[in-house]
Amino acid sequence: MSLPRTSISPLLKAFNRTYSSNVAPTTKLFIDGKFQESQTTEWIDLHDPATNELVTKVPKTTQAEMQAAVESSRKAYESWKDTTVLTRQQLMLKFQAVIRRDIKKLAENITKEQGKTLVDAEGDVFRGLQVVEHSCAAGTLLQGESLNNIAKDVDCVSYKLPLGVVAGICPFNFPAMIPLWMAPLALIAGNTCIIKPSERDPGATMLLMELLNEVGCPPGVVNIIHGSHDAVNFICDSPDIKAISFVGSTNAGKYIYSRASATGKRVQSNMGAKNHAIVLPDANKDMAIDHLLGAAFGAAGQRCMAISVAILVGDAKSWIPEIVERSKRLKVSAGYEPGADIGPVISPQAKSKIVDLITSGIKQGAKCVLDGRNIKVEKYPKGNFVGPTILTEVQTDFECYQEEIFGPVLSVMFADTLDDAIEIINKNPYGNGAAIFTTNGSHARQFVNEVDAGQVGVNVPIPVPLPMFSFTGSRGSFYGDLHFYGKQGLNFYTQTKTITSLWRKGQAVSRPSVSMPVH
Ligand code: NAD
Repeated sequence: MSLPRTSISPLLKAFNRTYSSNVAPTTKLFIDGKFQESQTTEWIDLHDPATNELVTKVPKTTQAEMQAAVESSRKAYESWKDTTVLTRQQLMLKFQAVIRRDIKKLAENITKEQGKTLVDAEGDVFRGLQVVEHSCAAGTLLQGESLNNIAKDVDCVSYKLPLGVVAGICPFNFPAMIPLWMAPLALIAGNTCIIKPSERDPGATMLLMELLNEVGCPPGVVNIIHGSHDAVNFICDSPDIKAISFVGSTNAGKYIYSRASATGKRVQSNMGAKNHAIVLPDANKDMAIDHLLGAAFGAAGQRCMAISVAILVGDAKSWIPEIVERSKRLKVSAGYEPGADIGPVISPQAKSKIVDLITSGIKQGAKCVLDGRNIKVEKYPKGNFVGPTILTEVQTDFECYQEEIFGPVLSVMFADTLDDAIEIINKNPYGNGAAIFTTNGSHARQFVNEVDAGQVGVNVPIPVPLPMFSFTGSRGSFYGDLHFYGKQGLNFYTQTKTITSLWRKGQAVSRPSVSMPVH
C-alpha cells in the first residue's frame, strides 16, 4: 500500500486553533444514533502526544448511560436482525464510500490524538476501510451450507445467524482500523454492536459514527461508550452482551477473556507481541534493511506487528553500521509535520517505560549503538518523543527482551545458523508475527514450516493479512478460537442453525420407531 505524503491541511490548522482554547471540548457518547454529553463527574484528559496540550476530555460513562446503550442495542437488534442481507450490504457500500471521501479528516484526527504521522494515519484508516469493503460481499460471506437428499427424502441446510448484541474493546494504537475490524462484520451478520474505543484516542471512532449516521444506519445498531476499567467490567458482565472482541495488552486481554467467558460469552482476545525478523546473509541487503527499519520504527514502534527483534545470522552481523546509518536519517517530529517519519509515543508514561527498558537493557549488557532516549525535537519540546534506538547483543533473559517495549527500539541478536534463530523465536511466549529476509527458497521454506508464529512473512516484514484472510496471531498473542475478520471473523459473529427436513410423498407409518434415527 503506498499513499502520498500529506502535508498539514487547513482543516488541521483550524482544529489546532479550536483545541488550544482554554476550554477543551468533551468527547460525546453515541447512544441511539445521537451524540450526547455524558452526565459523569469523572473525565479522562486526552493530550496531543506532540505537545501535551489538552485536546479533549473523555467521559467515564456512568452505569446508567452504559445500561441505556445496551438497551438501545437490544431494541435495535429486534429489527436489525430481520433486515435483508441486501440492506446490510448496501449500508456497507455507502459506508466505504464516505470513509474513502473523509480519509484525510479521519487521519488528521488520529494524528492529533494518537501522534502517528499523517501518512501512517491514512494507512490506519485504509486498513480498516478494506474490512468495510470486504463486508460489502455480505451475500456471499453469510452463505451457509446445504446438502440435498442426505437420507431418503431428507435435506439439510445450515444458516449463519447473528448472536445478538456484541461488543468491541479497542486499544490506542490503531484508532480507526481496529473498530473497523469489529463493527462491519458484526453488522452484516445482523448483530448490533457496542464499541468502547480506547480512552486515549476515541476521536476516529466518533467520526466513523458521524459517517454511519450520514449513510442511514438505524439508531442503536452501533452505540459508543467511553471509559476504562468500569466500562470494560460492565461489558464483561452484562448478560445482554453475547460476544466480546478485544484488542490490546496481554494483561487486559487475559483479564477480559477470563471474566467474560466466565459469564458464557464468546471472546476473541488479540494481545501483546514480540515479533522477530531473521536476516540471513543471502538476503537482498538494501531491501532487508529498509523493510526492517520501517517495521521497527514506523508508528514509533507502537504496532502490534512491529518488528522489535532482529536476529542477524552469520555475516549479516556486519550490516550493523549500515542499519545504524539509515536509522539516523529518519526524521522524528510531530506527526502532522511534513516529512516526519517517527511521531511521539502516546504518553509521557509510555515514554518513561520505553526509556527505562532501554536503560535496563544496557545495564544487563546490551550495546546501545543508537540511542534515542534524549532526543530533542526543537519545535515540540514538550512532546513524548523517543528517537530510533538500536540495542545489540541482546540476550533472551534481558528485561528489554522479555517485555513488550512498544516504542521505536530495535533489539538485535546474533545467531550462527537459521536453526538457532528459529529456536530463539519458538522459545518466545508470543506468536503474533515473524519474518525472514532471504533469497534462498529452501531457507524460506524451512522457516515457514518450522517457525511457531501465527503470521509469517517471507521478505514481508509486517505480514498482516488482508481481510479475505484472518488476523491469526497465536500462542501468547491470542486467546480464543475464531480470529478477527475474514471467514473466521464472520464465524465469530454468527451462530449456526442446521435444519434437517423430511418431505415424503404419501408417507405411511405402521408403528412408532423408538430406536435412534440413523436416516
Ligand atoms: P490496553 O490493554 O492498555 O488497552 C486496551 C483496552 O483495554 C482499552 O480500551 C482500555 O480501556 C482497556 N484496558 C486497559 N487496561 C485494562 C485493564 N487492566 N483491565 C481492563 N481493561 C483494560 O492496550 P493499549 O496500550 O491501548 O494498546 C497497546 C497494546 O495492544 C500492545 O500490547 C499491543 O501489542 C496490543 N495490540 C495487539 C494487537 C493484536 O492484534 N494482537 C493489535 C493492536 C494492539
